[in-house]
Amino acid sequence: MDRDLSLIGAGPAGLTAALQLMRYGIKPLIFEQADICGLLDNAGWIENYPGFPEGIRGSDLKMLFQKQFMAYEPDLIRARVRKLLFYQEQELFSIETEDRHYQSRQVVIASGTRPKKIPEIETWPEELNKHVFYEIRTLLSEKNKKMIIVGGGDIAADYALHLSRDNQVVLLCRGSQLRALPLLRKRIEMRPDIRIVYGMRFESAGPGIERPMAVDISYEGGRA
Ligand SMILES: Cc1cc2nc3c(=O)[nH]c(=O)nc-3n(C[C@H](O)[C@H](O)[C@H](O)COP(=O)(O)OP(=O)(O)OC[C@H]3O[C@@H](n4cnc5c(N)ncnc54)[C@H](O)[C@@H]3O)c2cc1C
Repeated sequence: MDRDLSLIGAGPAGLTAALQLMRYGIKPLIFEQADICGLLDNAGWIENYPGFPEGIRGSDLKMLFQKQFMAYEPDLIRARVRKLLFYQEQELFSIETEDRHYQSRQVVIASGTRPKKIPEIETWPEELNKHVFYEIRTLLSEKNKKMIIVGGGDIAADYALHLSRDNQVVLLCRGSQLRALPLLRKRIEMRPDIRIVYGMRFESAGPGIERPMAVDISYEGGRA
């Protein structure tokens, strides 16, 4: 058997569990398919994390998480868990990655959430899909680009506030108002450079007449 305890996911939840376990001298086998920190490093500014009264950038918190975590010399397996089975008779879990199987008596699953995909976009041609992102960590160094953010919740608002510092941002919202926290809504309203379009609906995407690729979008009172 490889380990008594294994942990799937090294986002904030998995890291918190791992740190506490390691402090008790229990070293779980930790599986992480991507960067340590999960979704949180997409966050522009985190204001609800105790200990940072002024708030902290998601990417900075990620560095601190990593530093604290790596100090324990964790047993980290950088791989995606693609199957998890429980063998009742042996009371054992089998954890399957691309390369091999691991066995563990107990498993903590902290695999988090995934951004919800927009079905219309999934059918777009590959050429267009190359310009679609569900997380912004790869866009943080972009400057002077025109960006469309689809959504009206907290994450869309956070992305808009963050990316509009160096880029031209349009926020496309399906509803008739933003659903983000009042605090974030207020900040967006104070930023006339962030254009918000309400009642948005994708019509089609594909080769345009004037441009090789185009997306048709209709919204309350117009189309683009
Ligand atoms: C833009 C943005 C701003 C945010 N701002 C805030 C904020 O200000 N305050 C706040 O409290 N929260 C904020 N959040 C939410 C916060 O990021 C999440 O609540 C938090 O990341 C959830 O942590 P988690 O560990 O449960 O999951 P995740 O962060 O999703 O981490 C899960 C981890 O598991 C890994 N994983 C998943 N499946 C597998 C698998 N099969 N094999 C191996 N590894 C796997 C993933 O790669 C990931 O690293 C924000 C989120 C975003 C996107």
